Amino acid sequence: MKIVVCIKQVPATTNVRIDPETNALIREGVESQVNPFDENAIEAALQIKDAAEEECQVIALSMGPPQAEDALRDAIAMGCDDAILLTDAAFRGADTLATSYTLAQAVRKIGDVDLIFCGKQAIDGDTAQVGPGVAEHLGLPQITFAIEINLDGKKVTARRMLEDSFEVLECRMPAVITVVKQINDPRRPKMRNVLKARKREITQWTAEDIEADPDRIGFTGSPTVVWRVFAPEGRTGGRTIEGEPEELVQALADEILEIRKGLSTA
Ligand SMILES: Cc1cc2nc3c(=O)[nH]c(=O)nc-3n(C[C@H](O)[C@H](O)[C@H](O)COP(=O)(O)OP(=O)(O)OC[C@H]3O[C@@H](n4cnc5c(N)ncnc54)[C@H](O)[C@@H]3O)c2cc1C
Repeated sequence: MKIVVCIKQVPATTNVRIDPETNALIREGVESQVNPFDENAIEAALQIKDAAEEECQVIALSMGPPQAEDALRDAIAMGCDDAILLTDAAFRGADTLATSYTLAQAVRKIGDVDLIFCGKQAIDGDTAQVGPGVAEHLGLPQITFAIEINLDGKKVTARRMLEDSFEVLECRMPAVITVVKQINDPRRPKMRNVLKARKREITQWTAEDIEADPDRIGFTGSPTVVWRVFAPEGRTGGRTIEGEPEELVQALADEILEIRKGLSTA
């Protein structure tokens, strides 16, 4: 069995800078971490590997700048068998369509993949679009927001967590599954595995290696353009009313009536 887990390296700080020219997030040199939902995705894959009677290989896959190797080393330290970094200047500025296409091309190159795990969403882009996008590019069934997964031969049954209910879905492998945080508690890597992972050679693939169509990757392949990124202005003004509860209620009611009067005459 072969499982691929897509993991994204995300800023581990809110102190992020935006490239004034491209409006893309500046990722180089920023303190980073594995996207928290992707730790749950790795754990879900490793639990299947632990329970598997047949040989089961778990491969961590990431698209990002060279520093994203650190995120892949964290995945190896958790127990992934292998890790591949898709890194190339041509991938820069990718929106979710271009990102999911790039990951799908890499999955095609890996070949014979039974399950592809993704986190529900990335904590920086927050679109939750890449997982479903990978499934679409590969023409595979997808189950998103999984909180429980059971395998029976080639059949996958998963319970989905919706806003106020659950849904149980079933499909056949190969398939794409995205997971929510509540699915498991990611294992903490043992120190010796962290040290071993530091020495591991991480395979790097370029756009050419995955036979990517240059028009479908990076800025060129991204119909979504970040127009402007800005911090919303903080709210100013506001007034504090002090006094006994009854006085406060009265003062507030008077205030509201005043505003309404103002609005009705405006
Ligand atoms: C603030 C901000 C807003 C953005 N808004 C948009 C937008 O509205 N539309 C748009 O198209 N793009 C947007 N982008 C760009 C978008 O972040 C990138 O396209 C990104 O590569 C994927 O989208 P995401 O971060 O939303 O990931 P999500 O779709 O939320 O990620 C879901 C899962 O996909 C996998 N995954 C995502 N990215 C990677 C990766 N690089 N390598 C491996 N696995 C991955 C992970 O398993 C992750 O848990 C935005 C970026 C930023 C920083």
